[in-house]
Amino acid sequence: MGKLDIRDLRKEFSDSDNVIVAVDDLNIDVKDGEFIVFVGPSGCGKSTTLRCIAGLELPTSGTILLNDDDITNQSATNRDMAMVFQNYALYPHMTARENMSFGLRMGTDLPKDEINERVQDTAEMMGIEELLEKHPGELSGGQQQRVALGRSIVREPEVFLMDEPLSNLDAKLRTTMRTELQELQQRLGVTTIYVTHDQTEAMTMGDRVAILNDGRLQQIGTPLECYHEPANEFVAGFIGSPSMNFIDVSMRSDTEELVHDRFTYPLSPETQSLIADAGASDRLTLGIRPEDIGVVVEETASSFPVTVQVVEPLGEVSYVYFNLGDGTTYTVSVDGDVLIEEGTTVHIEFPEDKIHLFDGKTGTAIK
Ligand code: ATP
Repeated sequence: MGKLDIRDLRKEFSDSDNVIVAVDDLNIDVKDGEFIVFVGPSGCGKSTTLRCIAGLELPTSGTILLNDDDITNQSATNRDMAMVFQNYALYPHMTARENMSFGLRMGTDLPKDEINERVQDTAEMMGIEELLEKHPGELSGGQQQRVALGRSIVREPEVFLMDEPLSNLDAKLRTTMRTELQELQQRLGVTTIYVTHDQTEAMTMGDRVAILNDGRLQQIGTPLECYHEPANEFVAGFIGSPSMNFIDVSMRSDTEELVHDRFTYPLSPETQSLIADAGASDRLTLGIRPEDIGVVVEETASSFPVTVQVVEPLGEVSYVYFNLGDGTTYTVSVDGDVLIEEGTTVHIEFPEDKIHLFDGKTGTAIK
């Protein structure tokens, strides 16, 4: 069992003249066996939250419960959790086998035979038996990270805590290890909290993702929930690549349209009532993902012309960049076999079922 409840967690750091709130009243419930990813930009408080859970950092306030037991003030060594770091943190003078068995030899009174058996079984499961007699200096980054993972697995903890464990690996190996790690977690069924700043890792690995910014939880949900129904402009911009386009518009209440210098956008009665219910001001942000913008050859009633600035052909898709005279560059993604030339005019449209609307002041999602 590895059920974690994080309640009103707050962590402040202070130096002589100011206080940094690294984690700001965070509430997250992690289910037994769940793979949850904490994601957010650098400095948003992911590592600090993880370190509070691990017992490496004492929270300023709040409670951490493991299987309903309050462990907030328990020492790290008494928590049944194993942490995997970005830099592997292997002992250089020990072999892979000694590194993997170290925690069991020092922290438990398990008989030697059982320790050997656990190390052997884990090494087989991870395909690293042939590395067991080598020292970390003789191993590649990927091999070292497998040994580091193996070292946490042999401990059979209730929770794995992983802080950017793949970020020192090259892009190709990272992709392979991502899948391996996910399969391993499913096989072992151990509750896992995985910290990353990489939204692709978050989207592909987590059962759920917790998106943080400025120490605060912005949204928690399945990757697809966060992608399709972002709670606010921050989440909408953070999840998805290339990023969602955001266009400042105003609401014209007499005609029930959104207005921008280059276009007007008539709203359906459903969208109008969503805006009214939200009590938003007349400044709104229209969000649309690059893949959701329609590009039409002939002008239609709902399309408007834009000049193509740059085309980036990537093979399967091309990114087409344009502006709307407001100082921002916007992106459309089109099929790679659609030929669009730089400097030409194309007509684009925003299907209403694809647009997002955010309160222009608070960034909270309206639609
Ligand atoms: P990164 O991805 O860059 O590691 P993060 O999201 O993990 O970032 P944290 O390392 O948790 O962020 O840091 C959150 C905030 O707390 C940052 O402003 C950071 O500078 C500050 N912070 C973290 N640890 C300390 C510390 N020991 N003393 C003072 N400030 C700290």
